[in-house]
Amino acid sequence: MAETKVRVSRGENFVDALKRAGIAAADRNAAAAAFGKHYNLRRLQPGQEFALTLGWPNQTLYQIADSDSEPEARLIGFEFKVDAENRIHMRRDENGELTARKDAVPLTTRIMAIAGRIDGSLYLSAKAQGATDKVVADLANTFAYDVDFQREIFGGDEFEAIYEAKYDEEGNVVSSGEILYARLHWRGRSREKGYYRFETDGRADFFDATGQSAKRLLMKTPIDGARLSSRFGTRKHPILGYRRAHKGVDFAAPRGTPIKAAGDGVIERADRYGSFGNYVRIRHANGYKTAYAHLKGFRRGIRKGKRVRQGDIIGYVGTTGRSTGPHLHYEVHLKGNPVNPQKLKIATGKKLKSAELERFQMQRELIDAMRAPETEAASLYAEDTDAEKSAL
Ligand SMILES: [Zn+2]
Repeated sequence: MAETKVRVSRGENFVDALKRAGIAAADRNAAAAAFGKHYNLRRLQPGQEFALTLGWPNQTLYQIADSDSEPEARLIGFEFKVDAENRIHMRRDENGELTARKDAVPLTTRIMAIAGRIDGSLYLSAKAQGATDKVVADLANTFAYDVDFQREIFGGDEFEAIYEAKYDEEGNVVSSGEILYARLHWRGRSREKGYYRFETDGRADFFDATGQSAKRLLMKTPIDGARLSSRFGTRKHPILGYRRAHKGVDFAAPRGTPIKAAGDGVIERADRYGSFGNYVRIRHANGYKTAYAHLKGFRRGIRKGKRVRQGDIIGYVGTTGRSTGPHLHYEVHLKGNPVNPQKLKIATGKKLKSAELERFQMQRELIDAMRAPETEAASLYAEDTDAEKSAL
């Protein structure tokens, strides 16, 4: 018996690859039939690999001397990696027939704890600690209501995250799961918040140590990756030329960028509205309304009377109405008066209480116990600015 690997070459199919490995024709065809029950053979790509176990039937000296070529091998079995989490195993059953079986790779979940200083961007600094893209995105999303990542993250600010990671038998990270805890110390380390993951009413959310939700009634920025191009307050109007109050904020963004509902509410209007161009207004709880102007168009189904949830896409950035280029003009009104969206500090009112709060506090203690002890000693950073990492 021998173990060998065959890698599919360009222009080669499954049977060709086995032939190149020296496997007898009868076994090649039987293997294709068995393998084909679990895998579409046409999906096989160059570079994919089979770890083969081969055997050779006993031959007499006469047969070996007589043959002018290598004897053909019998296929005993193989292993094939479908993806990070699945394998197909080919074996000979008790009757000697080739049969294939698909097996899930046994994964182990480990709790990862990372912490460090931000050098350049949160993305690069967290990646340098081994965080996956998903972990970094989830970490940033947890703070979407607190932090303006374009303007409020300074070099030397701190981040921390505890998250689940799934490993295969060879120790490779196969996928990263949920963030359990996220902390930022931002704006020149003048502000700090930590949020714990907690499931309530079948939904996972993030809460601070007191049980207050990380979510707010309204988002500061109802659009991803946009640049704040004009602030709230008096300014010289770009088209009209004279000074007048800017009743909202402008976000410059490419045409077609999705715009989200800043909070749960009901669409009050979604139509053409004079100099605002294509316009959406949403009525929220507690006397708040939000408005979105100069849209390229509305998302399908967005019309007056429609109920939306925070984060739902309602339309797309454009430059309709009185506008000099693609941007979102965003307004927040409280009881009819425009307020500065950048200064909103309104909680959802989602605050954990009684039995739920007790359950949360127990879980919070478990998570706190997983946190890397180094990150609690602030003095450590004074001596060693290297980011700390530990796998628990
Ligand atoms: Zn504007």
